[in-house]
Amino acid sequence: MRIAIGQLWQETNTFNPLSTTRRDFEEFGVLRGAELIEQMAEVNELGGFIQSLRRWPERPEIIGLARLPAWPGGIATRETFDWLRDELLGALRAQPPVDAVLLALHGAMAADGTPDVEGSILQALREHLGPRVPLVATLDLHANITPLMVQHADALVPYHTVPHIDVFETGERGAALLRRLLIDGARPVMAFQKIPLVVPAERANTQDEASVSFYFRQRLQQLEAQPSILAAGLTTVQPWLDVPELGSAVVVVTDNDPVLAKTECARLATELWERRREYLGELIPVEDAVREALREQANGLVVLGDGADATNSGSPGDSTHILKELVKYDWPRPALVTLVAPEVVLEATQLGVGRQRQGPLGGVRDQRYSQPLELTTEVVRCFTASFILSGHLGKNLPIDMGLSVVLRHGNVHLVVTSRPGPHFAPQLFEAAGLEPFAASVLVAKSPCGFRAAYQDRASKIIMVRSAGCAPADFWRYEYRHIPRPLWPWDEIPAWQPAPILKTLS
Ligand SMILES: [Zn+2]
Repeated sequence: MRIAIGQLWQETNTFNPLSTTRRDFEEFGVLRGAELIEQMAEVNELGGFIQSLRRWPERPEIIGLARLPAWPGGIATRETFDWLRDELLGALRAQPPVDAVLLALHGAMAADGTPDVEGSILQALREHLGPRVPLVATLDLHANITPLMVQHADALVPYHTVPHIDVFETGERGAALLRRLLIDGARPVMAFQKIPLVVPAERANTQDEASVSFYFRQRLQQLEAQPSILAAGLTTVQPWLDVPELGSAVVVVTDNDPVLAKTECARLATELWERRREYLGELIPVEDAVREALREQANGLVVLGDGADATNSGSPGDSTHILKELVKYDWPRPALVTLVAPEVVLEATQLGVGRQRQGPLGGVRDQRYSQPLELTTEVVRCFTASFILSGHLGKNLPIDMGLSVVLRHGNVHLVVTSRPGPHFAPQLFEAAGLEPFAASVLVAKSPCGFRAAYQDRASKIIMVRSAGCAPADFWRYEYRHIPRPLWPWDEIPAWQPAPILKTLS
């Protein structure tokens, strides 16, 4: 038995003015063939696939197609999309026929001319495979599931958690589902319901009992515990995606039970619709948040969540809104903040450690929502921002944000990297020689995922209202392509689900 595996992972933010290119994928780490199997055996969804497949008594041969990951960012260029499709399709064509394909996808990637990248890729693979070879794909919880994706996959298996601490386990769930199709003869029936709503990410913490998301995680896990349900997922989509099919979705895959699939799908969709307002949270203006952090830091670390400039939501990561406030105060212990600024890294590295740098910082990668800040800093350290990420988004995931520096102004320490990455991870600050949990205040460029690392150790977490490419109040920004009506842009008086059913052809 021969099973091919591959990955295409990027979350696109169409507000980020910087295009995503082939280079972004290559810098993150493209792998093919045997090298993919070797290096990804313990990493994220691919690791989950590989470990699970290796436990099968049938001992299937695992074929590595391609691992194509890039950090969240702007719209991919046309050439990048063509290259990604050709990588996966070319790798499959180069193989003798396979018995099944397992793909790890994000599900919210957009390219110039192709707003539904994953749907188009699944379609291309399906055309090559024909209708009878199982094609199973895992997805991020913020995927934008489309009818095209449903049409061409036998089953879609989304993450259940935010922060995304189940990436590896989702890979295992995808492989386990495939085994039921291949070995047990299960016949997948997938019910799919698009829901005309988009919610902010800030309050969607599935690990917090007080969050509405906690309830949905439990519901999904209870459904999957039923033997006749192969997979259940609820994707609340990432909001900063101006595409024609934007919206949340529910998928329920059963073993040949269309009534059960449809009933549970409709029930979940109705529940999400009815509880949509619970996702709307209170955010604190920047000035107030920083003043509050100064008061609260006496009790320990205060984390300021900067969702608007969240690099893991595809923002450029060089907003200065919080930095501008932080430098106004005298912090008893370090105040830590990050910035993506390759030109600053280069300049500071050339100046050298101990030298003063005078000049603008930030507000370059995106010039609409943030302006450069004029600041005198000392170059404290030059380092490479590379480490292994485990926690939100990663299990043993190698990260390399390139040459980086630490600049200091008073007790405000700026970690400046060449490339975007997890600008919330404690490992980033540690790589910079800083102690994140001993700081007065730390800015996490993340709407919710950062909580996996800080929820239990911070004395306080404050979500900041700021401007940027990934704002919590996204409906106040200009969208041109989204479907209408769509909540919260529009009130929709009486919405009712009517799931579509996808059965084996
Ligand atoms: Zn996500």
